[in-house]
Amino acid sequence: MKEIYLDNHSTTKLDPSVLRAMFPYFTNNYGNPSSNHIYGWRATEAVEVSREIIAEIIGCQSNEIIFTSGATEANNMVLKNKKILISEIEHSSVYNIDKYAKKLKVDKDGQVIFEEYNPEIVSIMLVNNEVGVIQDISKLREIYPNSLIHSDMTQALGKIKFDISDVDLASFSAHKLHGPKGIGCLYISSKIQDQIRPLIVGGEQEVGLRAGTLNVPAIVGFGEACSLIDYNMKFKELFLKNLKIEVKIHGRNTTPHSLNIALPCKNMKDFNTLAKDVIFSYGSACDSGSLSRTLLAMGIPEEEILRSIRICFSRLNTEEEIVRAAEIISNAVIASNRI
Ligand code: PMP
Repeated sequence: MKEIYLDNHSTTKLDPSVLRAMFPYFTNNYGNPSSNHIYGWRATEAVEVSREIIAEIIGCQSNEIIFTSGATEANNMVLKNKKILISEIEHSSVYNIDKYAKKLKVDKDGQVIFEEYNPEIVSIMLVNNEVGVIQDISKLREIYPNSLIHSDMTQALGKIKFDISDVDLASFSAHKLHGPKGIGCLYISSKIQDQIRPLIVGGEQEVGLRAGTLNVPAIVGFGEACSLIDYNMKFKELFLKNLKIEVKIHGRNTTPHSLNIALPCKNMKDFNTLAKDVIFSYGSACDSGSLSRTLLAMGIPEEEILRSIRICFSRLNTEEEIVRAAEIISNAVIASNRI
């Protein structure tokens, strides 16, 4: 394939070994984990093995993991109908939960500026999906001693290490780390499990906190994806080293996987055509079409946002792809400025 996929914050390629691990649960091992017979027991065993692997990566006990359809559901489950405090750069699945929610501002580097407030729940994402800025969530307990602390860690899992004891609740999604779409989980500290209510009610799956037959193949895939995590990521440096143009990097303290840059480009329409073999984005896929909310919150002028692009690397990219992508983007900027 001639395209180079660098939109890994939007979603990632399913790792072939994830697909291999999932396959038997689509074919012969199709039991329902809630069934009390050998097919059900086999499915339960697969789910519980995955739960253990995921819990180990997150750094919690396996009974603190509730499977959901993804991070959007996990965020909704925690925050809906609560008095919440969030930031201006949260993902839409947090930001749009309550349009009247108090929203903390960020500085020009994308760091949240904390203010005193007394919400039921504080929700601050660990890694931003548009710029990759990492927030210091370790201070949340001290600033908000009477609130539950939640973090959307969707873009952090598998990218940076974190201390889950900094929070009471956290949301995750498998498709950001080469797992399948439509599966994620909510970490709920055992200390506060009695304070959380289900969003989806029905059967007693997931200790009554999330009803519905478990998606066994997807859960197995999520577990496998977690077992393949590799924190070694050097592509950002390689990409920047190979650029032949001067760019402005947005954000400070960002993950090695994320790069959001303003291009010295006068003609983005032609740039887009010339750089079409590199798959990047202008911001969150969930808000595509509008100006990046994160860059706006960082005070970046509209003119600069319009020539800023988000590039996100993954362990399934190759060095060759990164060098070629830097070359294509540089050449496209230079050529489009001449047109
Ligand atoms: N939070 C963040 C930070 C994200 O990047 C995403 C994915 N766009 C989500 C939540 C939503 O995750 P999901 O696709 O699993 O619902």
